[in-house]
Amino acid sequence: MDTLEKAGILGKAGKYDSCGPKMCEVNISQGLGGIYHAKAEHESCRIFKTLMDNRCSFDCRYCANSAGCKKKGASYEPEELANLFSYLNKNHGVNGLFLSSAITGDQDKVTEKMLEAVRLVRHKHGFSGYVHFKVLPGTSYDLIKQASELSSRMSINIESPNKQVLSELSSCKDYKIDILRRQAWVSKMDLASGQTTQMLVNDMSTDKDVLKMAGWEYENMKLKRMYYSAFVPVKGTPLESKKAEKVSKQNHLYNADFLMRDYKFRLKEIIGVMEEGMLPDEDPKLALAKQRESRVDINEAGYEELIRIPGIGPKTARRLLGCKEKLDTYEKLDRFGVNVKRAAPFIKVNGWSQRRLGEFYAPDPAKEATAL
Ligand code: SF4
Repeated sequence: MDTLEKAGILGKAGKYDSCGPKMCEVNISQGLGGIYHAKAEHESCRIFKTLMDNRCSFDCRYCANSAGCKKKGASYEPEELANLFSYLNKNHGVNGLFLSSAITGDQDKVTEKMLEAVRLVRHKHGFSGYVHFKVLPGTSYDLIKQASELSSRMSINIESPNKQVLSELSSCKDYKIDILRRQAWVSKMDLASGQTTQMLVNDMSTDKDVLKMAGWEYENMKLKRMYYSAFVPVKGTPLESKKAEKVSKQNHLYNADFLMRDYKFRLKEIIGVMEEGMLPDEDPKLALAKQRESRVDINEAGYEELIRIPGIGPKTARRLLGCKEKLDTYEKLDRFGVNVKRAAPFIKVNGWSQRRLGEFYAPDPAKEATAL
């Protein structure tokens, strides 16, 4: 099998690890999968995402690369992968490598091959850019440490919010030992872009459990980011007849995660809009705002109130608080970065509020105002 054919198979086999939405995929050559536009530390980056090998001896029930799932097997030699990456780097503007692998027999042996490839990329080809190294469940400490010295970011997929759910998905992975213990090691290693992880979104867990675990990971594993991946049934796996999970569910988990991570909302607050542990089918910030009984006076509000208004983020809230003039028209709010269409139903400007959702105008108190 030639390298291009391997690149097609192993690039496509690696698509289940998130590094950005599907629309980020870039087609630079027919048959060559695995090139994505992604953001690495706020920099736009063209990433080559691939597996080292796609023939897994583990039995994860959702996975296209699992032991029981029929597929065309492929595997890179370290030198072959390093040469291919260097070619893509020099000729196609690819400036990041995301390397994962199926576990073909022994995780340490596979990791050694992955390490050898990255060493060649760094030392033989002189690449100093972004490398994301996937830690395979159960890998030895020494190899993880070596990987941390060559990588910008590392991750190990947690897949589920607790060990019960993981044991329903795989008989080969021990939640605490193979995953959490390895994450704890990585959290103490020196990585420019820290560690991330990925959670499978399916009907085996509630959103509450998923977000609770995400919060725990941010706090205890120095996690930079949790990726949520809506379950998609794969032909040939034991879960092939299950329904795909709604992408909107995955997106609302991202919304809630963002509220906890960047807006510092407490999980308890987000749980307030859940029903039986599940988020409503809308942006949780909007659902929370709808629960409030009165509108927020934009000129009186503090930071905590402002960031709870849809259409106002932390940066805009700080800008509004620093403003010396009176905020008495929607045009002014727009100039300060408020998404007025989203914010309008929840705010009072100059003591007045709009009449209809989506209206965008400077209120004339004499004619247009509606008392709250
Ligand atoms: S460990 Fe599980 S999820 Fe990872 S490649 Fe193997 S079967 Fe797939």
